[in-house]
Amino acid sequence: MARHIDSVCRLCRREGVKLYLKGSRCESPKCAIERRNQPPGMHVRRGKLTEYGERLREKQKLKRFYGLLDRQFSRYFQQAARSKDNTGEALLSLLERRLDNVVHRLGFAPSRAGARQLVAHGHIQLNGKNCDIPSLNVKAGDVVTVNSRPRSAAQVKLNQQTHIEPIPDFLEITGSEPPQGRMTRLPGRGDVDPRLNKEKVLNEQLIIEFCSR
Ligand code: SF4
Repeated sequence: MARHIDSVCRLCRREGVKLYLKGSRCESPKCAIERRNQPPGMHVRRGKLTEYGERLREKQKLKRFYGLLDRQFSRYFQQAARSKDNTGEALLSLLERRLDNVVHRLGFAPSRAGARQLVAHGHIQLNGKNCDIPSLNVKAGDVVTVNSRPRSAAQVKLNQQTHIEPIPDFLEITGSEPPQGRMTRLPGRGDVDPRLNKEKVLNEQLIIEFCSR
């Protein structure tokens, strides 16, 4: 599968906001946005954006926050556009329901990239069965458990101790030996990771306009 292999801090600098892609480093003074908040490249300056540019940046911000590539993102958009609900809300709900996102928001991994690795390396079970697909859609009532292998549980417990974000309302921790969590209901617009709106509130309408061209 294609993946982003360049420095992820460049993505934050491109968007001009923190995207929290590196776990605890993002909260430290070492964060590249804290040290040098300017776009990557030698002579690049942040000028006034065109209408197109504004919509593009909003889409890129959301896509990069959840660690997706273009094709995956447009598939989510098409799925959201087909749903009966508001397209923007449906899109955000679909992104929040990804297994790697759920693992991260339960505090089992310090970042979404870390969560993706945990899942892909077989450390996570969904409803009692091994699951190594990070993009899998978690449903209400589904139980996410860390594999009972000692190394898996030990690493996740360490991650839980350093996780500072509160567990969102649509998830709950249901066990500790091994660590386990459950999705109590489907996430809505209000359940989106608050860090996404921290510096600049996400405008999903702009994303819809960009993707519907
Ligand atoms: Fe790098 Fe995290 Fe800061 Fe983004 S928020 S620039 S990923 S340290």
